[in-house]
Amino acid sequence: MSASSHDSGVEGRERISLNTLYQLQQEAPRPKRIICPREVENRPKYYGREFHGIISREQADEILAGVEGAYILRESQRQPGCYTLALRFGNQTLNYRLFYDGKHFVGEKRFESIHDLVTDGLITLYIETKASEYISKMTTNPIYEHIGYATLLREKVSRRLSRTKNESRKASVTSEENTPVEKITSLVRRAALTQNDNHFNYEKAHNFKVHTFRGPHWCEYCANFMWGLIAQGVRCSDCGLNVHKQCSKYVPNDCQPDLKRIKRVYCCDLTTLVKAHNTQRPMVVDSCIREIEARGLKSEGLYRVSGFTEHIEDVKMAFDRDGDKADISASIYPDINIIAGALKLYFRDLPIPVITYDTYSKFIEAAKISNPDERLEAIHEVLMLLPAAHYETLRYLMIHLKKVTLHEKENFMNAENLGIVFGPTLMRPPEDSTLATLNDMRYQKLIVQILIENEDVLF
Ligand SMILES: [Zn+2]
Ligand SMILES: [Zn+2]
Repeated sequence: MSASSHDSGVEGRERISLNTLYQLQQEAPRPKRIICPREVENRPKYYGREFHGIISREQADEILAGVEGAYILRESQRQPGCYTLALRFGNQTLNYRLFYDGKHFVGEKRFESIHDLVTDGLITLYIETKASEYISKMTTNPIYEHIGYATLLREKVSRRLSRTKNESRKASVTSEENTPVEKITSLVRRAALTQNDNHFNYEKAHNFKVHTFRGPHWCEYCANFMWGLIAQGVRCSDCGLNVHKQCSKYVPNDCQPDLKRIKRVYCCDLTTLVKAHNTQRPMVVDSCIREIEARGLKSEGLYRVSGFTEHIEDVKMAFDRDGDKADISASIYPDINIIAGALKLYFRDLPIPVITYDTYSKFIEAAKISNPDERLEAIHEVLMLLPAAHYETLRYLMIHLKKVTLHEKENFMNAENLGIVFGPTLMRPPEDSTLATLNDMRYQKLIVQILIENEDVLF
């Protein structure tokens, strides 16, 4: 979805009220640069002739002569080396401490030129003075639900949901065939199933970054004009949604990433990737597991023996470049350890591990419980806290690793060995503390081992 398709939703009657802020921006006083008539010594090279040297507030006031939008720069009398912007607005002279670090700024926004800074400042002052009450109420009646973005989103969601229903029915048939031993109460198990039903409808927060819009833009949350010269609002770098900074706090976590904006597969946030590809799990995980189950389950030391680093990097590049079309078949990578290595690398490269930073310490605490039944219940409870896409990925991986252990006679890999390999791959402590990692290592291993051994009842 492109940014322009968002814009098209705002029209008609709504547009009239939206124009209030737009008109105010047009009416805002324009900057009038008052040049110093004399040569000023010690003028910083990044200021022009609007710099008047060391003068008092009163002198600055006189020079501005009550003209709205007039401005000069001066050096502080009391603190030489400190610079002030003196600006006429609303029949008074406003003084701002001015900073420069390659760009000019008085607050958050950074400007290429003093002229831009003053232009933006005057627009902001004017709009915030004239429409403060209006602005404070902007977010109370959002149009967000009514515009194109939300409609498109709803269509996508309902399409996905209908697919989900079919798939989950299939899943439940298979699980009934090999009825697992009931170790945990049926209540807990039902909770796990409910979680599974939602697996496609993952929540994802928008990834808002301050953005400078060229040409007039309207907020896609409150439908109002986004005023100012630069940094008028924020844009989601995953889906392209444009909103006021103040509105971004109210936008629900319904980001539907645009595949065009997601440059890579590796190192991309897990939920972002699955939403962009509209898949249940990261397709790297599905592809690699499919390949390994087709030809690698009996391979000695599967996941423990490492493949050639360069070849693993090759696979990573192929996924980044070709997505789900990446060819990882035996004709190109006969050594299955390369595929296993690529899968482990995918998990290691995640910005947020499969077992998230938020849940890390809860998992470690659960692992420390000595009573096996209580420990299992505790682990199950923490599993429920994982974001849906993480939960689903972990569930799928554990089903796969369980299959690996069923071939232990050939591959010599049991749940404990796999725990050693996957523990630090699936969970990392929130702070990079070597000591914590060393202490936690045996619990990381234990968690994965327990997840594999009890995959059928835990998920
Ligand atoms: Zn978004
Ligand atoms: Zn807004």
